[in-house]
Amino acid sequence: MEKYNIDKIRADFPILKREVNGKPLVYLDNGATTQKPNAVINSIAHYYTDMNSNVHRGVHYLSQISTDAFEVTRKKLQSFINAPEDKQVIITKGTTDSINLVATCYGRAFIHAGDEIIISAMEHHSNIVPWQMLCDEKGCKIRVIPMNDKGELDMDAYQNLINERTKLVAVTYVSNALGTINPVKEIISIAHKHGAVVLIDAAQAVQHIQVDVQDLDVDFLVFSGHKMYGPTGVGVLYGKEDLLNAMPPYQGGGDMIKEVTFEKTTYNELPFKFEAGTPNIEAGICLNEAIDYINSIGLKNIEAYEHELLEYALEKLSQIPGMKFIGTADQKCSVISFIIEGTHPYDVGVILDKLGIAVRTGHHCAQPVMDRFGIPGTIRASLALYNTKEEIDILVAGIQRAVNMLV
Ligand code: PMP
Repeated sequence: MEKYNIDKIRADFPILKREVNGKPLVYLDNGATTQKPNAVINSIAHYYTDMNSNVHRGVHYLSQISTDAFEVTRKKLQSFINAPEDKQVIITKGTTDSINLVATCYGRAFIHAGDEIIISAMEHHSNIVPWQMLCDEKGCKIRVIPMNDKGELDMDAYQNLINERTKLVAVTYVSNALGTINPVKEIISIAHKHGAVVLIDAAQAVQHIQVDVQDLDVDFLVFSGHKMYGPTGVGVLYGKEDLLNAMPPYQGGGDMIKEVTFEKTTYNELPFKFEAGTPNIEAGICLNEAIDYINSIGLKNIEAYEHELLEYALEKLSQIPGMKFIGTADQKCSVISFIIEGTHPYDVGVILDKLGIAVRTGHHCAQPVMDRFGIPGTIRASLALYNTKEEIDILVAGIQRAVNMLV
């Protein structure tokens, strides 16, 4: 393995040079969104300077080159997750949009009154609420896989929950609130034995670990561009071809049709059937650079580097008096969630911000996780490929200072 060149990597991200409140920025809110490398930033300017045009429409030159570039991203995404065909990669607005698409299209067509949907106790709200909305509409039921005190799913409970009424299982690959890496391959295999389809929320996974949809045999997989060093407003729904073909369209409009008359409309083929209207062209095209960037370092290298950083952070943070980690799973990546006795997460977050350190505080759009641990929220430091041990040291010193002020 070539040496992980952290100085070069950091130099690729211009925002990391800025100061916040007179201190060098220490950005540890990567679970919310990641910073962008120059390659992505420059490609946005390049798109508007040289290419701007609508896609999949015109015969003119600019429309052709922007369409080609948009489709290059789709191909890049296909190989990024090892999808069999590029038409199985639907370009959406993001993870939330992708889950809503499946809940609406698959749910409305194939899930009925009395059916059950299994989710887990550590889902982001975007993998809870769309299923609740579907259940309200259809009269189906949500069942929840519980977790233990370490923040690991109870697989025996899952085996007991699943039955012939289960039509769909929707589980996160990596928890944004706890950092737990779930045994999704096993979850999928168990679901398939019971004839249920599986949606995996990979919003916190694809930027940290290699995800292979064929190896997982997953039915639907969703993620967001902005959490993987790409632009905001673009994301992915991968689906098995037969399922996507069987599903009705999501929204009606331009691009998703073959022929329209006032009497009848015939729908376009995959992937366009699910891509009504003008997409976020710039974000779609520039996501290509983000994938190239990740590939240029290599996910195996990123995973190894971030794992070492996580271990270092856990060891250093554990020395702070009153520190309580929330989520201590054996299989974990990127996210460190904690509370400190005698302090409120928000107060600690405000003091860290004054020191130029960006963390997230609160429930992280996973209120049921907080309820499970009987707390209102946590402080969350979430790592990316550009973070360093020095930044962890600054975080630890900042927390120590906050504790001295607050306790
Ligand atoms: N699922 C998980 C696990 C997430 O971390 C997030 C973002 N915090 C989402 C879903 C929603 O992603 P987006 O807001 O990009 O749609």
